Amino acid sequence: MTPREVAAVLREISQLLQLKGENAFKVRAYDLGADAFETLPPDPAAPGGLYERVKSGTLCELEGVGKAIEQKVTELVSTGKLDYLEKLRLEFPRGALDLVQIPGLGPRKAAALIHELDVVNLDDLEKAAREGRVRGLKGFGEKTERSILEGIAKVRARQGARKPLWETRPLAEQLVARVRAAPGVARAEIAGSVRRYDETNGDIDIVAAVNGPVEPVMEAFAVAPDVAEVLARGGTKCSVRLRDGLQADLRVVGEAQFATALHHFTGSKQHHVKLRGIARDKGLSISEYGLARLDGGPSLQPESEEALYGMLGLQPVPPELREDLGELELAAKRALPDLIEERDIRGFVHCHSTWSDGRATLEEMVRAAHALGAEFITITDHTRAAHYANGLDVDRLRRQWDEIARVQEKFPQIRILRGSEVDILEDGALDWPSDILDQLEVVICSVHQRFKLDEPRQTDRIRRALMHPKCAIWGHPTGRYLGDRDPVSARWEELIALAAERGVTIECNGTPHRLDFSADLLRVARKHKAKICLSVDAHSTKELENLHYAVGTARRGWTEKDRVVNARPADEFLKMMWTRPPATA
Ligand SMILES: [Zn+2]
Ligand SMILES: [Zn+2]
Repeated sequence: MTPREVAAVLREISQLLQLKGENAFKVRAYDLGADAFETLPPDPAAPGGLYERVKSGTLCELEGVGKAIEQKVTELVSTGKLDYLEKLRLEFPRGALDLVQIPGLGPRKAAALIHELDVVNLDDLEKAAREGRVRGLKGFGEKTERSILEGIAKVRARQGARKPLWETRPLAEQLVARVRAAPGVARAEIAGSVRRYDETNGDIDIVAAVNGPVEPVMEAFAVAPDVAEVLARGGTKCSVRLRDGLQADLRVVGEAQFATALHHFTGSKQHHVKLRGIARDKGLSISEYGLARLDGGPSLQPESEEALYGMLGLQPVPPELREDLGELELAAKRALPDLIEERDIRGFVHCHSTWSDGRATLEEMVRAAHALGAEFITITDHTRAAHYANGLDVDRLRRQWDEIARVQEKFPQIRILRGSEVDILEDGALDWPSDILDQLEVVICSVHQRFKLDEPRQTDRIRRALMHPKCAIWGHPTGRYLGDRDPVSARWEELIALAAERGVTIECNGTPHRLDFSADLLRVARKHKAKICLSVDAHSTKELENLHYAVGTARRGWTEKDRVVNARPADEFLKMMWTRPPATA
């Protein structure tokens, strides 16, 4: 949960209260609260950020945050939902909040429309306005009616915008879980760009194979909690709009068609265009229903996506590669990269604890990593320059080593490595003296401040850090927050080439809000044969489960298993990470 998401929840409450006709004072409190959360650092785990304030009970020190809001936000952040909001939502038709989004309309007028005209969503209101029924209401005229129609178009355009994967993936997972639980469903999978781990998505696609009647499956989908409105519902397809504006489509097929339907709705379009050409050359046509022979012979029904590619004489192409970036040419030569998989990962490399800004103790992190099957974990708390993140000084670091030794005795089955996430200072120096760096088993070097340096200075700063002999891993290299904070500006290819040349491992950070080293940059790293580390940057035990975001992004960036340092047992991981290519003149 990010501060921006918290702000959105408070704004929704404000709008619902206005629809309800609550007093202006109460409404205003939620708007002020929302403003306050928008001023927090976008990273909830950042120093002085959301999590720290929830933990220390200092939310109400923020201007505009009173006790009532503090309580609600604490509930929201700790449980992921808010009882008060859920109840409030039930008081209005599902599409009502869309009406409030219409520029210039506002909750008071929206409430009047709901009451007087019985409209419950944008479609209703559009119809009423077109039929001239709005202009007759008190306080509305012909001009308002026209601007309502224009406003509806604007809201629809905004709702059609792409959303970040961290928002869409959890929604897609909830929807597919509902569909799987419906009667008669043999299989159901997420398709579309969410399946391909594209970092932004224009919609959510679900494909289900059903034995028997489709109605119960459609119903389960249509009444899912996040659905704001059902757009269309037919015999094989149900389209809905979710509360955040995103469209989600469910396609229902028979079991025999599942593989081709899943393949079809996974895309991408460019991949499919090229694939259809390959099929044509073999006398076949390919569609969501299967492979048909152009000469009219019996059609083919592959039982898996692998079989489908096989029928076309191709090596199976994993979903993350289906972008027409050369994957089909390689598949024809059976030369696709041997991509990293989640089960290859042996250890969690970038983990915080309560020693700095983590929310779980060192022991809790170790226990959770062990429970998830990890062979090793590196504890990498912040350094002193990150004072806002409760960064460690030398004394506390040494005490942490004592605790690591104690916890290690308790958990002999998992190896605990002594690490540090070292701040790259403004001049590119590292935030530990060399005798401390020498005693650390894992050194991640990251930029945490001075994001706004211009390109030459930022490039120089990072270059200097990468040149340091103790820089093992380059942490969240671009510093981007998906949808919230732009990457720092630097000459990326030059720095990636330098990292590869120096033997510095590049981090593919799986924090869903970051995914800051994008698939495009990972392909540049591949070109330079850079070593890669897949991390979670976990600040809680729960965040250890984010590994799939790192893996999906790495796969999309053509990352092979043999370049991934933590796809090896602890000793080999350390050896590979610290291996430096012979010094070049
Ligand atoms: Zn960091
Ligand atoms: Zn970190």
